[in-house]
Amino acid sequence: MRFLSAFLALALACPTGLHAVVSVSVNIPMAGAPLSGAQAGSAAFGARTPANPDFTLDAPRLDTLFQTASQELVRTLDGIAAIPAGQRTFQNSVLAIDNAYAKCSEAMAPVHFLGAVSPDENIRGAADSIRARFSDLMVDQSMREDLYRAVRSYADQGEALQGEDARLLAMMLRDYRKSGMELPAIERSRYMAIEKRLSELAQAFDKNLREWDDGLAVRPEELGGVPKAVVDGLEKLPDGRLRVSVEPTVYSQVMRKADSARLRMRLYYRREKTAAKANLPIMQEALKLRHESARLLGYKNYAEKALDGRMAKAPKRVWDLLLRLKKLLRPSADAESAEVLARKRQEVPGAAKLQPWDMGYYGSKLSEEALGFDPEEVRAYFPVEKIVPETLRIYEELLGLRFVKLDVPVWDADVQAYEIHDAKTGERIGRFYLDLFPRKGKRGGAAAYSLIQYRELSDGTFREPVSAVVANFTRPAPGQPALLRHGEVKTLFHELGHVMHQTLSTTKRWSFSGSSTAQDFVETPSQMMENFIWQPQVIQRLSGHYQDPSKTLPQALMDKLLAARNYHSASETLGQAAMAAMDLAYHSAVPKDILAVYRKVMESFTGESVDRASTFPLRFSHIIRGYAAGYYSYLWSRVFAQDVFSAFAAAGVMSPAVGARYRRAILERGSSVDEDILLRDFLGRDPDEKAFLRWLGIDPGRPQS
Ligand SMILES: [Zn+2]
Repeated sequence: MRFLSAFLALALACPTGLHAVVSVSVNIPMAGAPLSGAQAGSAAFGARTPANPDFTLDAPRLDTLFQTASQELVRTLDGIAAIPAGQRTFQNSVLAIDNAYAKCSEAMAPVHFLGAVSPDENIRGAADSIRARFSDLMVDQSMREDLYRAVRSYADQGEALQGEDARLLAMMLRDYRKSGMELPAIERSRYMAIEKRLSELAQAFDKNLREWDDGLAVRPEELGGVPKAVVDGLEKLPDGRLRVSVEPTVYSQVMRKADSARLRMRLYYRREKTAAKANLPIMQEALKLRHESARLLGYKNYAEKALDGRMAKAPKRVWDLLLRLKKLLRPSADAESAEVLARKRQEVPGAAKLQPWDMGYYGSKLSEEALGFDPEEVRAYFPVEKIVPETLRIYEELLGLRFVKLDVPVWDADVQAYEIHDAKTGERIGRFYLDLFPRKGKRGGAAAYSLIQYRELSDGTFREPVSAVVANFTRPAPGQPALLRHGEVKTLFHELGHVMHQTLSTTKRWSFSGSSTAQDFVETPSQMMENFIWQPQVIQRLSGHYQDPSKTLPQALMDKLLAARNYHSASETLGQAAMAAMDLAYHSAVPKDILAVYRKVMESFTGESVDRASTFPLRFSHIIRGYAAGYYSYLWSRVFAQDVFSAFAAAGVMSPAVGARYRRAILERGSSVDEDILLRDFLGRDPDEKAFLRWLGIDPGRPQS
């Protein structure tokens, strides 16, 4: 689930202006807009002005910064609203609003970021409390009727706009419409009340999950099979027993390793109680209100509303993909389940079926036996001192860049800063930070933060973008350098893929800069880059044993690593497709029984009956938070990631020529044109699913009836 946390962090750390509050997607069909030529983006490349965000501010100064930035935002927006009718221009109205939010977002960058990364608890606390106030301010400003009227009255003048400017106006009008601004007064106030209630429900749903604290008290001898490191980490109770909590990390470790089926069963049933009673009515109410709000705006259902402006455009295209995947993946997934059941029968002769508490356990046994793969062995070849510089060199080579290490003040001694230059012209493009290791209070998981975005300034220069990779890679064991798991190398490639998307923009308007694309496209550049770490030639370059760097990953280990990649991947992908289908089903019609719909969709996708005690949707918070009718985005982005990578693969993988084309056609253009057009310009044809299916191990040439 790491990709989703990264995704969420992006959304949180991304531009916080009008469209980010009203709706994070900005994609509108503007086929034929002047910027659609693959070279067009480069025309905007120009002198850069740094914003110099200060990430060493203390708590009181963060508060001053917020006061100043919010006052200036409100003052500027007041001024825009007060312009007399007849004097409105694109510059003094539409562009002025975009720039006001951009300026505020630039000023607020340290606040957004330090809440996640500052080593100082006071600073994190101050930043979080300011963020909550800032978010209220943003909601109030984005709902201002006088500003909507300002934009509307400019639009009514009918001035002909081109390219990004035409797109910016259309996007603002669409976002205002989708936030209920065009409704008659009574309906509008109902719409606002629904939005407010939905936000309360989302917070309550999350709070119930966050505060849920449950587990089993077990005797140490019941934990046979569970690794010592996991057992040592369990809480010791006064009576000598150990507490196995239902918290996700402990839960999955114990469920995969505990030999006692009885223990796994008890833990499974205990976990299914998680916040279920409290969250069922919350989810029911939220789905009902979302449906009502979509109907108020004239949509058939919430899924139609959510997809208006995304790359997929309408639910039917997503359903088509999911149902196609179901059909194509089912035979392999069924075979995988049969193997797991056969493995169970070796220990439980005659077992009729796999129980929900068997899958992880026998699945993990089977994969260890089949692959004979010890991730620890691979790690010895991935020391961080080798991986990070070599990864950066690969990015430099592919994209025609040069990264120069910077000596600037940072928020923690572990952090490294780099300046990005164009390799050919030497021009300075932007900056990024790497903050790779855990420390107390730092945000968990991995994410790419877009801190400052490229845009045209009033003096004709361009704002220099700033991004950061924040991760929590394994710290060095005593006497060893930091060694990365292969999955962590993948994370580094993924997050840097986002950072390049965020910093290489040459769009004029802030709203279209960097990774401000439609939600169902934003993971395409990052997932595309993950492909590189599965290429033998790249693994050779990246690896070097920590005791003898001249020794790259041996062929036998390489073979095992590559074999592990697709091992039982059909079941996993089918499961994701099923969850995406469940999410879409919930937002297509108000379900009478949330859990019955869940069981029906899962059973239809996997062909296996779902345990009646399972309450999975009631702890699946993506649906309640930012991913309503959006869980499909991961698979959807992946289809295009694989299609884009196929161009690299066809040119021998490490191809600077394809990299340059990718940079110009996709990375530099942000969301300034439709994502379909970006892809068509890069690929020289319409995007398709063939590479994605091959990646899943399915022959795309097979006739699909
Ligand atoms: Zn990502």
